[in-house]
Amino acid sequence: MAESASFTPAEERAVREAYAAQGSADCPRCAVRMRERSIGGGSFGLGYARKREWLLCPQCHRSVLFDLKRGTRN
Ligand SMILES: [Zn+2]
Repeated sequence: MAESASFTPAEERAVREAYAAQGSADCPRCAVRMRERSIGGGSFGLGYARKREWLLCPQCHRSVLFDLKRGTRN
């Protein structure tokens, strides 16, 4: 079923790299700009919010979810 469709690991990596490099990414299958959503962790009350980004292709509905690590700056 199409519902469980997902990117291959190589495609997912390409999306992550594009997003890291330019702040946006295109779907490797549809060549359309993927929508981004930020998912905050604050509502879980963990004390430390890890920012997550969710990229969703509006055409094929494949998505890539990844964590943005914020610990690189001192
Ligand atoms: Zn797509």
